[in-house]
Amino acid sequence: MRAVQVEQTGGPEVIKLVELDDPVPAEGELLVEVAAAGVNYIDTYLRSGLYPRPTPFVLGLEGAGTVRALGPGATGFAVGDRVAWSEAQGSYATLAVVPAARAVHIPDAVTDEQAVGALLQGMTAHFLVTSTYPVARGESVLVHAAAGGVGLLLTQLATARGAHVIGTVSTPEKAALAKDAGAAEVIQYTQVADLAAEVRALTDGQGVSVVYDGVGRTTFDASLASLRPRGMLVLFGAASGPVPPVDPQRLNAGGSLYLTRPTLFHYVASRKELEYHSGEVFAAVANGTLNVRIGQRYPLRDARRAHEDLQGRRTTGKLILLP
Ligand code: NDP
Repeated sequence: MRAVQVEQTGGPEVIKLVELDDPVPAEGELLVEVAAAGVNYIDTYLRSGLYPRPTPFVLGLEGAGTVRALGPGATGFAVGDRVAWSEAQGSYATLAVVPAARAVHIPDAVTDEQAVGALLQGMTAHFLVTSTYPVARGESVLVHAAAGGVGLLLTQLATARGAHVIGTVSTPEKAALAKDAGAAEVIQYTQVADLAAEVRALTDGQGVSVVYDGVGRTTFDASLASLRPRGMLVLFGAASGPVPPVDPQRLNAGGSLYLTRPTLFHYVASRKELEYHSGEVFAAVANGTLNVRIGQRYPLRDARRAHEDLQGRRTTGKLILLP
């Protein structure tokens, strides 16, 4: 099979297309022919070594495709089924082995590309607005990088729950996409001197109930300063780099604030939770209430360029690799 491998962690230049033996599904695993693999920011953390793991490894956690074989004891799926997954390391490849316990069926009304566009980032957006901080009608919410993969989905889901979404983006083109996704207000955060002051001006001086911050280092301080008393900062990523250590006293000074650093994998740890979040997301895609924007498609051999574009802030929506 063809696969995108990292032999030593580092910049995008360490990404190599290689030929490997076809994998054999072990106990409880499915062998899947990959139709589309999802490119996610976490792939860049694993590639760079920010999230350490043993090398060499094949990149990619997410994909969609067709089951070609079942390992011993794998249940719930049959050869020929269309499935999607977001936790199988080795998905940037023509073939992947996926634990059956972590695979989900793709409904007929959802294409393979939509499934990849919606699963990891859509379940993330969904748990953030339903579980981490359940957004209520009329609340003001700040969504950073609102034209990104998670950002566009989060903006749509928060808006659908009746929130007043303030999005941040770096360019006018991205601002237009965030507005289309439902953002009531969009701030070009690269152009303003005091982001928190802008957010307060848009909320009658009150601040927002929750900030969804996947940008990290460059936005953290403004995120904290944008909250109303007892508001919650949901730090869910580090696209601009990790946040330095924080003094808890800052939460007191800011108004008895909450800070959490959630990860999808803890919110879909059980089969029931995985089926709940994926089911809600796929249903919304199928009935047209959640729009998946595939921002860019790349052949497998261009995985390096996909990482460069994602980290270079040149992308919108979801990036997928087509084996
Ligand atoms: P995006 O498509 O959102 O891409 C990242 C965006 O971040 C860029 O497009 C850019 O938008 C913005 N950004 C701001 N500063 C920088 C910078 N210095 N370098 C690069 N980008 C920057 O990526 P994803 O949707 O894949 O992921 C978004 C975030 O969500 C990531 O931090 C990721 O780790 C996190 N995440 C967390 C999960 C969890 O379970 N906790 C699950 C999934 C994603 P702009 O140009 O508008 O500033």
